[in-house]
Amino acid sequence: MTIMNGFADAIGNTPLIKLRKVSERTGCTILGKAEFMNPGGSVKDRAALYIVRDALERGALRPGGRIVEGTAGNTGIGLALVGNSIGCKSTIVIPETQSEEKKQTLRMLGADLVQVPAVPYKDPNNYVRVSERLANELAESEPGGAVWANQFDNVANRRAHFETTGPEIWEQTGGRIDGFVCAVGTGGTLAGITMALKERNPDIQCWLGDPMGSALYSWITTGELKSSGSSISEGIGQGRVTANLEGVSFDGAVQVTDEESLPMLYDLISEEGLLLGGSSAINVGAAVKMAEALGPGHTIVTILCDSGQRYTSKLFNAEFLRSKNLPVPSWLDR
Ligand code: PMP
Repeated sequence: MTIMNGFADAIGNTPLIKLRKVSERTGCTILGKAEFMNPGGSVKDRAALYIVRDALERGALRPGGRIVEGTAGNTGIGLALVGNSIGCKSTIVIPETQSEEKKQTLRMLGADLVQVPAVPYKDPNNYVRVSERLANELAESEPGGAVWANQFDNVANRRAHFETTGPEIWEQTGGRIDGFVCAVGTGGTLAGITMALKERNPDIQCWLGDPMGSALYSWITTGELKSSGSSISEGIGQGRVTANLEGVSFDGAVQVTDEESLPMLYDLISEEGLLLGGSSAINVGAAVKMAEALGPGHTIVTILCDSGQRYTSKLFNAEFLRSKNLPVPSWLDR
């Protein structure tokens, strides 16, 4: 029997699941890394753990201190849980547009939740900018001190995936992997896994799967940051080259619209028994596009980031989908 020594030890070593229907349809082997099975429920547990460990090692954080971060929710959940497990408090700044389920989870975990309007990074009221200011203020006033996690530009984030997720994928596939593709929020997952895979075999194709409204597809394909359209997906899409993306080059990029990813999301439930969030569906949609581009016979890995339970009020709510002019599956209308 294997016994995990607390929350941190239970992070990682997630299953790699064959997605049978999309594999059949494309003639490729499409595999999803089940990051929703991490103890905090998302891929961001890994980054949260590495960021907290790095802060402890640098002496920037000690037990009794406070972790401050701007997040779409999942990093905050990971940080609050890692924090609780070592006696640290957390303050989480979140755009008010993010799902109620994630906000409620953060409240339940004891995090101090600060909601701000969803405005671009250049606006001083942007959630990332507010979290940096708050961290500076709290560092002065908190008896135990405070640290800003800074997931976008703190490369402890991508190191988590370079040292754990990437090597796990290599081991689980026995090195028989032709392509990797996933979406970017901070870029920690895509960059860290790309670095790990390329180190083992530089021929592995590492691609970005971008939602509409993100500027990275055009950055990779034309060298220019430009965006158009929008997406209801949470936690992904980026308008700048974060420190986590810097210095890593990618072999390609595909865009996936909500109109393409939502049917995928519902098929994954009914065909595979996998209840996932919107970014996972964008990722699987991107893996299908990669499979079509590479041709049959290839093995492609992507990330299943979090669970659909975090988005009941949005992705599984006919009224919400209708308000965004998105297709409503008939079973949701029953
Ligand atoms: N999917 C979800 C649901 C997320 O919360 C995030 C993180 N914001 C991502 C994907 C993207 O991961 P990363 O920050 O490593 O790019």
